[in-house]
Amino acid sequence: MKPLFIVFEGIDGSGTTTISKLISKEINSEWDKEPTDSEIGIIIRGILSEHKPINPITLLQLFIADRANHQDKINKFLKSGKSIVLDRYIPSTLAYQGITFEINDLYNLNKNFIKPDIVFYLDISPEVGMERKKKQKGTLELYEDIDVLKKVYEKHIFSFQFLQKEGWNIYFIDANRSIDEIKKEVLNKLKEFYNAI
Ligand code: ADP
Repeated sequence: MKPLFIVFEGIDGSGTTTISKLISKEINSEWDKEPTDSEIGIIIRGILSEHKPINPITLLQLFIADRANHQDKINKFLKSGKSIVLDRYIPSTLAYQGITFEINDLYNLNKNFIKPDIVFYLDISPEVGMERKKKQKGTLELYEDIDVLKKVYEKHIFSFQFLQKEGWNIYFIDANRSIDEIKKEVLNKLKEFYNAI
């Protein structure tokens, strides 16, 4: 079977980490995340969790640098015949940095990176996302604020319309349901996709 590059996206609390890990286990693929665990990814995570003041251009360039470093690893798995599931990728940059920058400028910075075969967008409202994050942990990250999440949500929807025009394959999943129901729907969509290629 052709190795697939599968990405999970959604606002904070939508379940990208939970669901991407479950699906990766089910299909016996590699799993990884962005920001990565590289030196650059660790710097980004520190900035987000400690709300460190940072110039938005610097933060954007850190995300792009981290993703550029990640390309070799993604390619290596796909070339070895193994599928890879990622918790967040290019659409997250278009949504989160899209609050500050123009989508065309953001897309141009990403356009030479590998295009995923499938993106699953886990769709929940910002209110549900915030509730889940509050329950999950005591402290909230930079983007885990209801007004920020509302903006990110709008930017996600806007950037998916943009990416679909660029030929990206995006499935919207109602992520208000139980983890088990979401998992089943994603696995069904993956089966349909495999049958179609
Ligand atoms: P993200 O990575 O998108 O921020 P997580 O996967 O970390 O989201 O999930 C955030 C919290 O919400 C976790 O505590 C997780 O167990 C919970 N959660 C995830 N998906 C669901 C769901 N479908 N229903 C209820 N809770 C969920």
